[in-house]
Amino acid sequence: MTGPISDLGPAEARPVLLRNARLTGVHAPGDADRVDVLLRDGHVAVIEPSAGVGTAADVEVVDLDGRWLGPGLWDSHVHMDQWALVRRRLDVSSARSAAEAASLVGERLRSRPLAPGQPLVGYGFQDALWADEPTRALLDAVSGDVPVVLVSKDLHSVWLDSRALAAHGHGDHPTGLLREAEAFAVSTAVSAVSERQLDEWVGEAARAAAARGVVGIVDLEMTFSVDRWARRVAAGTTSLRVRAGVYPQDLDEAIARGLRTGDVVPGTDGLVTVGPAKVITDGSLGTRTAWCHDPYVGTEGDPGAHGVATYDREALVAHLRRASSAGLVPAVHAIGDAANASALDALEEVGCGGSIEHAQLLDPADLARFARLGIVASVQPEHAMDDRDVADRLWAGRTGRSYAWESLAAAGVRLQLGSDAPVAPLDPWVAIAAAVWRARDGRDPWHPEQRIAARTALAASTGGRSRVEAGSVADLVVTEADPLTATDAELRSLVVSATLLAGRFTHRAL
Ligand SMILES: [Zn+2]
Repeated sequence: MTGPISDLGPAEARPVLLRNARLTGVHAPGDADRVDVLLRDGHVAVIEPSAGVGTAADVEVVDLDGRWLGPGLWDSHVHMDQWALVRRRLDVSSARSAAEAASLVGERLRSRPLAPGQPLVGYGFQDALWADEPTRALLDAVSGDVPVVLVSKDLHSVWLDSRALAAHGHGDHPTGLLREAEAFAVSTAVSAVSERQLDEWVGEAARAAAARGVVGIVDLEMTFSVDRWARRVAAGTTSLRVRAGVYPQDLDEAIARGLRTGDVVPGTDGLVTVGPAKVITDGSLGTRTAWCHDPYVGTEGDPGAHGVATYDREALVAHLRRASSAGLVPAVHAIGDAANASALDALEEVGCGGSIEHAQLLDPADLARFARLGIVASVQPEHAMDDRDVADRLWAGRTGRSYAWESLAAAGVRLQLGSDAPVAPLDPWVAIAAAVWRARDGRDPWHPEQRIAARTALAASTGGRSRVEAGSVADLVVTEADPLTATDAELRSLVVSATLLAGRFTHRAL
């Protein structure tokens, strides 16, 4: 597999020689030496000191001029269809009150009127800290003839004007703010675009991700996406590797077809594999539905004060057993500490491994259990930046063990980072920045004791590859700066010069 560059023989695809690279995790910013990296047959074939040696004629030579070469990035938790849609929606995430959100709607409708009958869909509101109530009347005052649907940042609520309420069968709803199942039904309905349109938008989103250095995603879209991804790859969306998750409603079909986590989906050139079996066991922090040992502050004594468990223990064990015995590795959504404890109990009883998605609030006694059971903590650091004020209020006194990434790392737990796009942007540098700095918008770091080392964050974004090594797959990212020494702001706006997937450029700005 490896040999000197001058021994290069004929190969099927044209080899690429990246000259004058600095290797992320190997070189320090002050180092003067450079390496040349030969990519052949989809792999890193040779790494040797830059010496200006000649190359065979069929090698494409790209001079990196001292740029940084590192392993390509993964986003381990994405809802890709939602992200493709949200990228095109009115962004109302900056609204700090219901009135402000309504005024963004009004501005948008005045500046770019919609065709008659077309609804306006917005995304990203967070009402947990608003002093005023989101009401249908507030939207009616600005929406005129246009049905307006605003989807909350965590996807668990929707806020509609009267026209949209009527269109979705909630004409007599008192406030216009729908939660959970009713909200999901509306957000599903407004997301119903044609397959062809959605595929096109997903293709755009995939190219945009590659332009940020992404080589792969775990797609936890709530539909059976294995076949859809095969279709998209066949139609030319080849910028990413995709692990396509399976939800409980599709478990029967997946098992009947013999799909196992890690299987390559035929006809996708190895790009699409079967992902984990996702199961959701509680709600979210912002809607106070994450299942917690202690009541949410201010709700003590209420019936839902501890949040919601969506599975009882027996049902969860049965589900995990069925999935794992069919070769599907579980990915268990658990946000509250009670949900995490219960998920660990069930995973331990079944003995199947897998991941816990989110793991936002943990009983310290459970840290060692993650490690002992080999359960991956699949976390979304930017959520902590979005939710720190909500957590300080609703989980007051508990935030020292929330988003506890350093405690997890110190306990020997394998971390993987993700965005949960559309909740946060599909940009792993944002996740890495949040994990390493725990700060945003010029604020002081939030629980800085839970910051993790840049190296740890990078490895948690690359499937554990902390540097480029000879013999490894040529999924690579070229950056203008060293991500291991970059500041928070530098990471968030890190310039990605190129991304390669199995030695092929999926993004190139060189
Ligand atoms: Zn998710």
